[in-house]
Amino acid sequence: MNTAPYAARNENEGGLPASLSVLGATGSVGRQALEVAAEHKIPLDLITANVDVSGMEALARAYHPRFCVMADEGAARDLALRLSDTPIAVRGGNDALCDAIREANSPVTVNAILGEAGLLPTLACVSLGRRLALSNKESLVVAGEIVKAEAKKSGCEIIPVDSEHSAIFQCLHAGRKSDVRSILLTASGGPFRGMTREQLEKVTLRDALAHPTWKMGAKITVDSATMMNKGFEVIEAAHLFDVSPDAIRVVVHPESIIHSAVEYIDSAVIAQLSSPDMRLCVQYALTYPARLPGLSRELDLFSVGTLNFFAPDPAAFPLLPLAYRAMKLGGGVPAVLNASNEVAVAAFLREKINFTDISRTVSETVERLTVYKNAKTVEELLDADREARNAAAALL
Ligand code: NDP
Repeated sequence: MNTAPYAARNENEGGLPASLSVLGATGSVGRQALEVAAEHKIPLDLITANVDVSGMEALARAYHPRFCVMADEGAARDLALRLSDTPIAVRGGNDALCDAIREANSPVTVNAILGEAGLLPTLACVSLGRRLALSNKESLVVAGEIVKAEAKKSGCEIIPVDSEHSAIFQCLHAGRKSDVRSILLTASGGPFRGMTREQLEKVTLRDALAHPTWKMGAKITVDSATMMNKGFEVIEAAHLFDVSPDAIRVVVHPESIIHSAVEYIDSAVIAQLSSPDMRLCVQYALTYPARLPGLSRELDLFSVGTLNFFAPDPAAFPLLPLAYRAMKLGGGVPAVLNASNEVAVAAFLREKINFTDISRTVSETVERLTVYKNAKTVEELLDADREARNAAAALL
């Protein structure tokens, strides 16, 4: 992939893009991306959402993009009416979303869409051969090989926004890729760190949504509590940085100050530290290799005081080892993992199932559908996604 993290760069390259598109603008990362754009007065080409018409209307009036797209066509009709007193063009539907990405042709597009729905927009961004600031990790979980191959073909630069991957990307500048021994992927451990499987049987939705260090969208907050999010991040890192999942070690670090680290063959470990704030990660993905003062507050190590590190507990959090297995099986199995998790987490968020039912549903769906390990094309991967959604729903 043309992330080019290892190449020496001209000191003067990078800086603020001339304009920006933000996909998933009404979400947690999307809104923070818009704050970064406002802070640096970057004009907006395109903002998108799915169904949140009121949220989009407010963002459109505040940020004045050229285009707004709602993936949901009914929501788009509603938004068009509400914005009829503005020059903003409003479109609806998934095809319109991908067309608008191409038409906007922004020098940088932030993809902060939630879930597998981000895959086709990622491929549309990649086809432009410009910069993709990628927050939608599911694109790489579901179709990492295809996204990488397409990025290589077009010359698209993929800069990770996920805080751990942004950290690894930065740490890789300290040495040669061939001298990397391992990647230390940090995890806060979420709200249930240290709990046993028996204790997890009794936790509630409210408990799961109370993340100790990060304020994020509901779905990824639950994924952090199950450690599925960390499993996805292992797959994401393996694709982004072309390393085997066996070279990626998860380290539970409750303070979320070290965002990840890279160990080199001389046993030196290079880490990236900062206050937990996604706006720093978004801004770096926009301005790389330049750095600018921004909205993130300075790190005060004296007030942090102590940093702790623990090994993850695979018995209490089985979705983490399952992600390694899914990646090793390959093909469409990571897509099955992601889709069944999306279904199970949605049911948990509606309080239809218990917390531990999430891992039960996902594990069973993956074991039933390992046949998808031979899936290769986008169509085959989307087929694996669909089958996994049906199989997981039938288990609920
Ligand atoms: P949110 O749930 O807060 O926001 C999701 C965004 O995606 C919303 O704008 C939503 O629109 C849009 N969206 C949802 N479904 C669709 C769809 N079917 N088609 C088009 N757009 C859709 O998510 P987060 O911001 O928490 O996460 C976004 C991505 O970033 C995820 O991949 C997550 O894993 C990753 N990430 C998030 C972090 C965080 O701090 N939140 C940290 C690191 C990575 P609408 O509002 O209309 O539903």
